[in-house]
Amino acid sequence: MNKRDYYEVLGVAKSATQDEIKSAFRKLAKKYHPDVSKEPDAAEKFKEAQEAYAVLSDESKRRQYDQFGHAAFENNGMGGGGFDFSGFDFSDIFDDLFGSGFGFGGGRTQSNRRAKGHDSIMRINLTFEEAVFGCKKTINVDVNEECDNCNGKGGHGEKTCPTCHGSGQVTTEQRTLLGTFMTRSTCSNCQGKGKIFETTCSKCRGTGRIKKNKDIEVKIPAGVDTGNQLRLAGKGEAGYNGGANGDLYLEFNVKSHPLYEREDNDIYLTLPLTITEAILGCKKDVPTIYGTVKLTIPDGSQTGDKHRLKGKGVEDVQTGRKGDMYVILKVIIPRKLSRDQKKIFEQLANTDLEDSTEFKKYKEYI
Ligand SMILES: [Zn+2]
Ligand SMILES: [Zn+2]
Repeated sequence: MNKRDYYEVLGVAKSATQDEIKSAFRKLAKKYHPDVSKEPDAAEKFKEAQEAYAVLSDESKRRQYDQFGHAAFENNGMGGGGFDFSGFDFSDIFDDLFGSGFGFGGGRTQSNRRAKGHDSIMRINLTFEEAVFGCKKTINVDVNEECDNCNGKGGHGEKTCPTCHGSGQVTTEQRTLLGTFMTRSTCSNCQGKGKIFETTCSKCRGTGRIKKNKDIEVKIPAGVDTGNQLRLAGKGEAGYNGGANGDLYLEFNVKSHPLYEREDNDIYLTLPLTITEAILGCKKDVPTIYGTVKLTIPDGSQTGDKHRLKGKGVEDVQTGRKGDMYVILKVIIPRKLSRDQKKIFEQLANTDLEDSTEFKKYKEYI
């Protein structure tokens, strides 16, 4: 079979510019790509166009061809003669035409598509103060990063798969009594990627990713609470085929405080009072998270009485608005008394202390 002239194949003049050659090939690729074309001889036409383009788009190869014709490439081991274009990278044209990662029947999509890396989660313990006021934490993370030895590709010397010519698919012809059937399958030489490497990257063993252990400093905002999550964009696992990294989520667990109890942005504090403080009233030092304040306790205070200290709660992590602090009184009955104290109480016992309605209501039923 006589090989057609490369210019004839692309349908361009001998004097065609590179732009004209490229645009002619694009048209043919669109028309004859075996995965999109319905033409019966599409695969042959496509291959022919690829070969012509691989030669004519390269100035030095084009010069050789102009001088010697097909004979210029006859020693390339292709048997039938002609230029071996298996090492030629068509990806810019195909990506352009079909979109990056275009399906070509499926195999190629799965392995070559850009994809965001997985998100990961890490639990962080915080003291009450760290959560309320915010803090800086150094955390140690294992992240899968793009391999710097191969730029995440997994190998070196990338070339178009010679078996499928970059399509990731092979078409086999089966002749039977009923006619000829074409079956298409994923190329086994490149696992559908359309490209192969001359050498597999030794650092990442072909995965394109390597695990790195890193210390990173994180600023934790004021006001976080147990169960809150902080998203660290791009600190998760590496993406695939140049896709973005996943995110790392820090989930907080806030340790309990000996005095304070937190409910959303409000803080509750139980304030112990002696019986005389409760009976006679007093001024008490109350520790808030912003420092000590004086609280006036009126005479006749009871256990469970509640005093609000406005704005002494936790700053909201989003709005910055401060919650309140609630001081709950608890009158402590002394368990041991000195002889003198006991005397005083005995004197008190002889006085009428049942002046309140609670006692009166109770007595009606006796
Ligand atoms: Zn292949
Ligand atoms: Zn590598």
